[in-house]
Amino acid sequence: MNDLSNRIRNLSESATIAMAVKARELKSQGVDVISLSLGEPDFKTPDHIREAAKQAIDDGSYFSYPPVPGYMDLREAIAQKFSKENNLESTPANIVVSSGAKQSIANVMLSLLNPGDEALMLSPYWVSYSEIIKLADATPVPVKGELSNDFKATAGQIEQAITGKTKILIFSSPCNPTGSVFNKQELEDIAGVMAKNTQIYIISDEIYEHINFAGEHISIGSLPGMQDRTITVNGVSKSFAMTGWRIGFIHAPEWIAKACIKMQGQFTSGACSIAQRAALAAITGDLGPTRAMACEYLERREMVYNLLKEIPGVKSNMPDGAFYFFPDISDYFGKSDGEMRINNASDMSMYLLEKAKVSVVTGEAFGSPECIRLSYAASREDLKEALKRIKEALAKLS
Ligand code: PMP
Ligand code: GLU
Repeated sequence: MNDLSNRIRNLSESATIAMAVKARELKSQGVDVISLSLGEPDFKTPDHIREAAKQAIDDGSYFSYPPVPGYMDLREAIAQKFSKENNLESTPANIVVSSGAKQSIANVMLSLLNPGDEALMLSPYWVSYSEIIKLADATPVPVKGELSNDFKATAGQIEQAITGKTKILIFSSPCNPTGSVFNKQELEDIAGVMAKNTQIYIISDEIYEHINFAGEHISIGSLPGMQDRTITVNGVSKSFAMTGWRIGFIHAPEWIAKACIKMQGQFTSGACSIAQRAALAAITGDLGPTRAMACEYLERREMVYNLLKEIPGVKSNMPDGAFYFFPDISDYFGKSDGEMRINNASDMSMYLLEKAKVSVVTGEAFGSPECIRLSYAASREDLKEALKRIKEALAKLS
């Protein structure tokens, strides 16, 4: 243990994955746990995508190492997607396909950050940002948005957090964990701050692009002056219910794309060949199944919002996208059911797991120790039962 590197010892375990593991363990022991912890679609990958993977296997042409940045036809299709749907000028030279958007983000961070650099994360932020930044020997700097502003940090707050060492700004919109979506004006305001601070690169994580109930999806990279400094991250995990296939991708200025290719040439040699063929079918195919999934998430959002509203001491906004609620449960801090005392969100997530048999993720992992994250990518039946259990468990705290 003591021989492990400082790097790995300073790295936190992924809280989303850790909680999912706990829930799975309990389930395997026969405990009736409802898992609202891991953010992954509860739908199956659409048929036409599965067929493409089967065909690729039967074809027999995809068993060798694929090109490190991804197959050319897939990169072309992704470039067209970015041009058409995201208003980014795009050629395959801007595209790198990786083993999930998580790896895409790691490639970019490791390619751009030097020791001592600072990376601003709009907070609440997705768990892995801070840890990947630390792996790159840089310093994560959260810029915290308030619940009253749908958890969205303002351009003014970002401006105040910038120092001579700031190299990166990263955020997700629609956001994991809050579901918030930055509107055009807000993105323009952020771009305005970036225009005054030309040393900063923007990583725009748009993996929940198609789960947006607020209207049009806007990529900050498409705003004037931003394309040369923006890395747009996306993937098939959420839009096409393909978390296990592990395909993510970036649109980046060519020199950054080249660096990421060099990085991944040493790390993975590229993403799984068969999964890339499936991703090609996803990107070029019908968005009908994606839209149907988004409609179902919308129905569930209404249902969960109404159920959450009925629980005293739970403060939540109405998320505009993704499939998470991020309620503030700090009213319960200092309370106990006689056995377990709740002093913070981690205590609350353990209490809910033990007493309500519902797994959620502590907000601490996302930079908000007063909140917990609930994923509503679960059946309506499970969601109703989970919210009932949470309400009953919270009523026992005094
Ligand atoms: N960014 C965000 C905001 C996420 O929630 C996730 C989790 N799916 C990822 C990136 C990584 O996605 P994947 O590696 O599955 O493509
Ligand atoms: N992105 C999902 C989440 O936040 C999946 C878990 C992970 O990739 O960390 O729960």
